Amino acid sequence: MVRAEPAAGVLYLVGTPIGNLGDLSPRSRQVLQNVDRIACEDTRRSGQMLAQLGIKARLLSFHQRNETSRIPQLLEIITNGESLAVISDAGLPGISDPGEELVAAALKTGHEVICIPGPCALITALVISGLPTRRFCFEGFLPVKQNQRRKRLQELANDPRTLIIYESPHRLVDLLEELESILGNRPLQVARELTKHHEQQIGPNVVTALAHFRINKPQGECTVVIGGASESKYLGLYPWNQVVLIETLKELIETGSSPSEAARILSKNTGMPRRQLYALLCN
Ligand code: SAM
Repeated sequence: MVRAEPAAGVLYLVGTPIGNLGDLSPRSRQVLQNVDRIACEDTRRSGQMLAQLGIKARLLSFHQRNETSRIPQLLEIITNGESLAVISDAGLPGISDPGEELVAAALKTGHEVICIPGPCALITALVISGLPTRRFCFEGFLPVKQNQRRKRLQELANDPRTLIIYESPHRLVDLLEELESILGNRPLQVARELTKHHEQQIGPNVVTALAHFRINKPQGECTVVIGGASESKYLGLYPWNQVVLIETLKELIETGSSPSEAARILSKNTGMPRRQLYALLCN
């Protein structure tokens, strides 16, 4: 028989939507509705999300700055037989969000930990990237300091697995520049605003994404998926999406290039014949 959820004394890690509230699963809803306490990064933000879902809950804050100091109190809650859910602002707790330390402490002290799976930006971005999904490497956010970021990318330069990085929009262009200089013009997709109204994929390689975001200031949430070291050789074969090519040509023209200059710049970046690109503007 399936045990009723939430069960007493259990720690639940509950996945919540990364944009589209329709992605909250019935099981997540059921646990969040009935659990004794919910620990969340931002009580106001999660309170609003839960209110939108019609869920009333006893919230307590659990964020990066109080993660370690809160753990004894959270363990006490489950030791006393209450059920406790942990959620983050979006996606799966424990993935570039608080959760990892609490889970380790709960397991160490003999508590049961259950994950109610849900949306996760890295997996969502990976499966729609068109890049190999069989083996991948998730780096989360790279270090903010430039020398440390560059060192990390150098360590990853020969890794054959698909690489996934979280990045804030205001650092995206810098990251793409570093990717170009350290890893070269690899296949790449930037997944923007996943599951939201303006969801968008920008690729198919580092140079095109860079050209796009130099013209269109990055906004919203971005996850970057990069082909592994062995993927570079496929770059020339990568099918270009005609819509992306036309958009890029138009962007170049809007920022001052003549149509033939735009075709020449894109030809240099993609390896596609200049005339073929120019012809796209005449269709
Ligand atoms: N725990 C979350 C998860 O399971 O994906 C990740 C939290 S991390 C603090 C936030 C980062 O995830 C963002 O800066 C962005 O890189 C990525 N992200 C979150 N939501 C996203 C979305 N809707 N579209 C693209 N990337 C997203």
